[in-house]
Amino acid sequence: MKIRKNDTVLVITGKDKGKKGKVRFAYPKDERVVVEGINFIKRHARARGRVRQAGIIELEAPIHVSNVMLLCDKCNHPTRIGFRILQDGRKVRACRSCGEVID
Ligand SMILES: [Zn+2]
Repeated sequence: MKIRKNDTVLVITGKDKGKKGKVRFAYPKDERVVVEGINFIKRHARARGRVRQAGIIELEAPIHVSNVMLLCDKCNHPTRIGFRILQDGRKVRACRSCGEVID
C-alpha cells in the first residue's frame, strides 16, 4: 500500500474533504487508514472497569486509501506516489510533483 503510518495526508472526498491529518494506523489488507481527526464516528459505550466512562464516545473510523492523498513534506502538495529504485536496489516511494524520495 502506498500510504503508510505517520504519513501526512489530505482527505479528498467525503465529509472531511480538505482536511489534513497524520495516519495513525494503516491496514494494507483492507486498503484502509485511520487518520488523526478524520472521520469521527459516535459510539455508545458502556462503562468498563474504572477508566471508561459510559456515554457517547467519538473515535476515528478507518477510511479507504482512495479517499486520501499523500501530502509531500518537501513541496507541500497533495501528490500521487511513484516508486523509484535506488542504486542499492531498494524500492522507495517518491513524490510525483517534485521527485523527492519519501521513505
Ligand atoms: Zn513533493
